[in-house]
Amino acid sequence: MPFHAPVEDFRFLLEKVIGFSEVTATPRHAEVTPDVTDAILTEAGRMCDGILAPLNRAGDLHPARLENGVVRTSPGYAEGYRAIAEGGWVGMAAGEAHGGMGLPMALVTCVNEMMGGACLALQLNPLMTQAEIEALEAHASPELQALYLPKLISGEWCGTMNLTEPQAGSDVGALRTRAEPDGEGTYRITGQKIYITWADNDFSDNVAHMVLARLPDGAAGTKGISLFLVPKYIPDAEGKPGEVNSLRVVSLEHKLGIHGSPTAVMEYDGAKGWLVGEPHGGMAAMFTMMNTARLGVGSQAVGVAEAATQAALAYAQERRQGRAGGTGAIVEHADVRAMLARMRAETFAARAITLACAKAIDLGRGGDAGAKARAALLTPIAKTFGTETGINVADLGIQVHGGMGFIEETGAAQFLRDARITAIYEGTNGIQAMDLVGRKMMDGGEAAQALIDEIEAGAEAARAEIPDLAEPVWQAAETMREATEWLVAQPMAERFAGAMPYLRAFARLLGAHYHLRAAQAGDGKRRRLAAFYIRRMLPEQAAHIAALRAGPEPVMALDAGDLAP
Ligand SMILES: Cc1cc2nc3c(=O)[nH]c(=O)nc-3n(C[C@H](O)[C@H](O)[C@H](O)COP(=O)(O)OP(=O)(O)OC[C@H]3O[C@@H](n4cnc5c(N)ncnc54)[C@H](O)[C@@H]3O)c2cc1C
Repeated sequence: MPFHAPVEDFRFLLEKVIGFSEVTATPRHAEVTPDVTDAILTEAGRMCDGILAPLNRAGDLHPARLENGVVRTSPGYAEGYRAIAEGGWVGMAAGEAHGGMGLPMALVTCVNEMMGGACLALQLNPLMTQAEIEALEAHASPELQALYLPKLISGEWCGTMNLTEPQAGSDVGALRTRAEPDGEGTYRITGQKIYITWADNDFSDNVAHMVLARLPDGAAGTKGISLFLVPKYIPDAEGKPGEVNSLRVVSLEHKLGIHGSPTAVMEYDGAKGWLVGEPHGGMAAMFTMMNTARLGVGSQAVGVAEAATQAALAYAQERRQGRAGGTGAIVEHADVRAMLARMRAETFAARAITLACAKAIDLGRGGDAGAKARAALLTPIAKTFGTETGINVADLGIQVHGGMGFIEETGAAQFLRDARITAIYEGTNGIQAMDLVGRKMMDGGEAAQALIDEIEAGAEAARAEIPDLAEPVWQAAETMREATEWLVAQPMAERFAGAMPYLRAFARLLGAHYHLRAAQAGDGKRRRLAAFYIRRMLPEQAAHIAALRAGPEPVMALDAGDLAP
């Protein structure tokens, strides 16, 4: 089943739903005219459809391998990567000073989603490099920037993120990797990292690892962590890859999905590293990478949802079974139709949320404090809801296929296997939800209420035209307002049992808000999809709010003994 990048949906969302023109009206992005936007979406879409999507199955069937310490990538991946690099898509968000395109995050997010939908395992590679570029732009010395940024932006060199160790997963502060000053202004890095995405490859000239480690005087926990740039090959005086550094890929993991993406155990044995940012300021620097990567992970999963929806719809229009009426294909059965509608409506909602988050990032970078707060609020929602959508939609895609969904040849199973990791890496979804109800509510719920105000105003404005859709959205906004007031009144430790229900309830409301806008701005098809979402899916918000308001007691009253058989 060929993949078609949803270029038209991006155009509609940017122009009619999320208000991308506010971004292009700022001096930073004044050159992003509608023609430029169009050209970017069209070009990226063409590459995704024609070059990346055909590689998806090959990566699944022929995983990356480790041969004599060297990673061999899946068939065609080198050519696919070259197309990404030559198109400028690795450095599309990077500043022009070092060769980037300087595109706004809203457009970057569209392209990342398309690439993720076409071939998630390969797209992870540029996603890691993009995050590294951003961290170097924000925190590295001018010398490091001058040496590394042009190579990373052009795609000649790739980047990685090294946080995780066996005893330090969600609890990054427990890491043990050490960094010793070597008297030459650089450091010697020693330790083991696990689960490192694209730790090596056979198509780039160098790999620049971003590694979290502790200096000798670093305090315990996250406060004592510093960030280091540790290249596979140490650049020589001309900046060319030179001496081999003391690091190696120990092994690659065997995984449920994303087989084409090598996930490595890495050994650093006194490897030469350069400090990025301040000593002990590693978490601040790493957060720059992680926020971009979180939105990126949300949108790559939306890409998988898109691909799964396209495949399921095509199958449902072909397969004949039972007395379906109409065309005679299973798409005519109400249950199948409902599954497909849910897949399409949810994909749209999740896509709108990731783009709204990206737009807030763009406006925040231009100095708008309210937008900055909104971006912070929306990032955990975009990551969590985007990834849950990827997984749930891919799961429904299997169901639509019936038995053929369970058979690997259709590719429906691969979508689910590939999407499953997105809820785990870049901070598990549970940790994201805790971030939302904890750190992101430190303002007493101000950013959340400002967004709810906007949703209510939007619903009020739509009331005269489409009251049957506007009214439930207005009601849901009120419910969310009250739930937010209730949440911020709870002690911090008591919020966490309701963190995920709160996040899901908020995502349901946001999805309804963007569907309502689409119904107002779009044709009959947009309106019918919005009606499906608002009448069939928005009511789920009430169940999430009830779970939230039940508080921690029903959860924590059950101890591990109660859960045993
Ligand atoms: C394929 C793959 C690629 C990856 N790529 C990278 C990479 O490139 N770089 C990198 O550094 N890491 C990477 N990771 C690691 C990934 O980020 C971690 O697996 C993830 O952060 C979770 O850590 P963990 O596996 O140790 O799980 P744990 O931290 O042990 O978590 C297990 C469960 O407990 C929950 N939990 C843990 N702590 C808390 C808490 N305080 N409150 C509530 N619940 C909690 C979690 O939500 C989860 O459900 C990758 C992992 C995989 C599988």
